[in-house]
Amino acid sequence: MRPPRLAPLFASVRALKGVGPRIEGLLDKLVAPRQQGAHARAIDLLWHLPVGLVDRARIPSISQAQMGELATLEVRVAEHRPGGGRRGARAPYRILVEDDTGALELVYFKADPNYLKRLLPVGETRLISGKIEAYDGWLQMPHPDHVAAVDKAGTLPLIEPVYPLTAGLSNTTLRKAIDGALRQVPTLPEWIDAAYLAKQAWPSFADAIKRLHAPEGDADLLPSSPARSRLAYDELLANQLALAIIRQRLKKRAGKSLAASGKLRRAIVGALPFALTAAQQRALTEIDADMASGSRMLRLLQGDVGSGKTVVALLAMATAVEAGTQTAFMAPTELLARQHLATLRGFAEAANLRVALLTGRERGKERDSILDALKAGDIDILIGTHALFQETVAFRDLGLVVIDEQHRFGVHQRLALQKKGTGTGAELLVMTATPIPRTLLLTSYGDMDVSRLDEKPPGRKPVKTSAIPLERLDEVIGGVARAVEKGAQIYWVCPLVAESELLDVAAAEERFIELRARFGDSVGLVHGKLTGKDKDAVMARFASGALSILVSTTVIEVGVDVPNASIMIIEHAERFGLAQLHQLRGRVGRGAAESSCILLYKQPLGETARERLNVMRSTEDGFVIAEEDLRLRGGGEVLGTRQSGLPAFRIAILPEHQELLEAARDSARLTLSRNPTLEGEDGERLRLLLYLFERDDAVKLMRAG
Ligand code: ADP
Ligand code: MG
Repeated sequence: MRPPRLAPLFASVRALKGVGPRIEGLLDKLVAPRQQGAHARAIDLLWHLPVGLVDRARIPSISQAQMGELATLEVRVAEHRPGGGRRGARAPYRILVEDDTGALELVYFKADPNYLKRLLPVGETRLISGKIEAYDGWLQMPHPDHVAAVDKAGTLPLIEPVYPLTAGLSNTTLRKAIDGALRQVPTLPEWIDAAYLAKQAWPSFADAIKRLHAPEGDADLLPSSPARSRLAYDELLANQLALAIIRQRLKKRAGKSLAASGKLRRAIVGALPFALTAAQQRALTEIDADMASGSRMLRLLQGDVGSGKTVVALLAMATAVEAGTQTAFMAPTELLARQHLATLRGFAEAANLRVALLTGRERGKERDSILDALKAGDIDILIGTHALFQETVAFRDLGLVVIDEQHRFGVHQRLALQKKGTGTGAELLVMTATPIPRTLLLTSYGDMDVSRLDEKPPGRKPVKTSAIPLERLDEVIGGVARAVEKGAQIYWVCPLVAESELLDVAAAEERFIELRARFGDSVGLVHGKLTGKDKDAVMARFASGALSILVSTTVIEVGVDVPNASIMIIEHAERFGLAQLHQLRGRVGRGAAESSCILLYKQPLGETARERLNVMRSTEDGFVIAEEDLRLRGGGEVLGTRQSGLPAFRIAILPEHQELLEAARDSARLTLSRNPTLEGEDGERLRLLLYLFERDDAVKLMRAG
């Protein structure tokens, strides 16, 4: 349960003064958490930070007001000119104001005349602030941002923060809502270590959040400002603490000690059509050491697309099986699970490993018999999707869990599968193809041990990458025709059009119909809305060479392996993030043929999109691409973050706050080693922090013990 003192912060924005259903809708759009159906809460407003300032310093006179600029002026109200005609609502209400140097009109399009008469009585002097425009040779100020009596000048902000907005929501309205949210900020006990806080000279949490919304100068907007730094640290500390708690849970139970003579592994390696790379061998040595040790393995196997992670996983599983246990291999999608089944079965045959598949699609008798075999210990490797998490899935003795994750599994799921390891904990190997920069590794995996496959299997040819505007589509299709004639196989990826998968599918279908008109039955289509069976059938035809062109949405993004495919065409490449483009390109360049990747883009290209395409053309090194990605995103672009599945911070920015991240990691580690269950007052404060940054899962875990 969230502590009651935080309740006002997590209440709907509707509870704030001045926020009715209409404003609520706009705020939902602007700041609500990204989960489906989530509504904006006070705290979401607090995390919505200004991006600039307006200076409302007064200018001396109307004659000095600049067109198009903001002006704050002291004026006399000369005359009210109500909008003429019956349709009063249509004609603006004008108020003439003046000073000794000139006059200007305040213009209100929809306002209550009585309200305006009270606000700006004729003959009175008022301070007004707003943007100066011209109409018919007249100076105007449409809808002043502020109007104040001269003796109330103090209520008019001299410097005003400017926020990112959404259509229909004004900065002033948003500010009012944020002010309301700020009033909900309780005084909280300090969770940052006193010495560290003093050294940094940071304000308290409440002061920091208030300061961020009341900047006094440009320096206050920088990531390095004390207020921003403090809150970034808070957020990173919550992140690191949560990860450390999870890690502590996973490590707590002694791991199995899985060692083997290597008989099974040798059998598999002997039958492989290739030799392991040095990087693969190194990773296996590290994995073996972890598995043989008494404490549980928690290792991340990080390797670019095509670096050969699957074989490494299989050989690790062989050891676990030889040591007398079972293994589970989880893929992010059903398509991939099936593909892994085919690959792993082939390789595992040499060692007589018994491999089975369990996804949402195995039902009834088939499913029962798999479950029975699993319980009896007659299955060595169970491959599956999240269906493996279900309660009914019980192993006789689960020794090793491999998760091929692409960030698609949450921490919860990882934990759930781990719990299936009976008695002692199963070893855990997480594989990721996203070359996560070191900076971000820490934020998504905490202190996990890492093995890197930083070397590609020999014989990989570079993929020739070009960027071509969509106007030249005909040329590209001509090239496709020539390539198909020579027996090439081609992926044609259609863009991520919108949030809605249906729209993506429509775009892919359209392209499919066009290509089919030209290339006939050798074109296939695969997308997320197909049933699993249909998807498999299309993929199988592509893999067998029966299809030359495979049109798809991004469902092929991960893992799919068709070595003969040598051309990757990505339509509307400008809409994809770097990580995704890199993943997609990794699908080709696996076989003997020269491979190419064509990035079809729509003009005109934005600055960032252009740079992304340039990065793609200039390098194939996933780690370089990842660093560039981080740089181009400036830590902030939500799209990239969401697509890569990395945790999105609301206050912290990486790499700018890298040092704070490291400090937070050290602090989290130290704290938990001293106070593993966050007891006492100190513990209570840190729990508060976890709740504040919505790491409730970690607190629950702690309770569960
Ligand atoms: P990843 O999962 O890391 O993207 P895979 O494990 O799917 O990569 O491997 C890609 C391809 O490379 C597969 O066809 C695999 O059989 C092959 N492969 C793996 N290791 C080697 C190696 N050492 N030498 C040559 N080919 C390899
Ligand atoms: Mg793979």
